[in-house]
Amino acid sequence: MRPADLPSTAEIARTKPHGHFMRYVAGCRCRRCKQGRKDYESKLDENRRLYGPNDFVSTDRVREHLLNLQKQGLGHKLVAKAAGVGKTGLAEILWYGKKKMGRRAERKVLAVRATVETLGRRAMQPAGETVEYIQRLLQWGYPKRLISAGIGQDGVALQIPALKGKAQSVHVKTAVAVRELFRMVKIIRRMWSAVHGPIPSGHYVWLKRGDAVALGNLKLQPFAVNHEYFHFYPRELREVIDAANQLKRQLRKHGKEENAKKQNERPEEPPVRNPGESERPGQASGHCAGKSSLRGCPNHHQQRNRGSKSHERDGERNPAQVLRRGAGKVPASRRRIRVA
Ligand SMILES: [Zn+2]
Repeated sequence: MRPADLPSTAEIARTKPHGHFMRYVAGCRCRRCKQGRKDYESKLDENRRLYGPNDFVSTDRVREHLLNLQKQGLGHKLVAKAAGVGKTGLAEILWYGKKKMGRRAERKVLAVRATVETLGRRAMQPAGETVEYIQRLLQWGYPKRLISAGIGQDGVALQIPALKGKAQSVHVKTAVAVRELFRMVKIIRRMWSAVHGPIPSGHYVWLKRGDAVALGNLKLQPFAVNHEYFHFYPRELREVIDAANQLKRQLRKHGKEENAKKQNERPEEPPVRNPGESERPGQASGHCAGKSSLRGCPNHHQQRNRGSKSHERDGERNPAQVLRRGAGKVPASRRRIRVA
């Protein structure tokens, strides 16, 4: 049934170029429109031959399949992506009671299974195996940079929380990638040592360029200067060191908190800014002890100025000081002597 708000055929065709099937439907019989209709029909025939008829079918089976996949962690958007159909149609089937869909789309959706490829980044699995593999690679001297590049992670840092015990599971994709990398490394190590003998300590075997696993593409590489020999320690020792470091961190944190508490509990500073000032020689009277600022006391100023002048007269005169009064504290390398 034609929806009431659908524009008329002529109106739809107006925006289409000659040769478009809609233009033919609207009544144009020009050379290009006739050819266009022919092409369109033959394309439909070809599709029918290749993929079977595309008549409407009930959505019951698809709906059931979608609900099943949902339980396995595969939502309708991922299904749509994997099947190559629109996600809106699937959403309508799930929630808005869409009753019919094309037979070909149905077949595509029913073919989707919850696998590593389709589940993608969502699927998780226990981290044990992956962590073991990476530990072995690190022990053999492979830098984290190579491992992270080898499993297709962007950036330099190897980002696997489970490696530091911060997570119990890893993404399935990561697990698969790490397993593949480990397998490849094992193969190239065997290939190399079959020809050159055992791999010397402090070295690892890697590819010269690209990812071709061939004897001509292998090279011996010394460990990175920052290689963590930590990875050579037996597992128990590593765990103990880890635990000790955690304890140290906690103690340090605790100490910081204690210090902050002490700082907060300290009494406020006395109101006199510089209580020692009044006890200077020649100022025994202490007449301005109650004042908070020296600026309010002219006697002090006089005393200070007189003192510094006499000092200047006594000692040797520094030419820079003569040129720039009061520049005595500027380091010699920074002094700018302006001669008028
Ligand atoms: Zn035409």
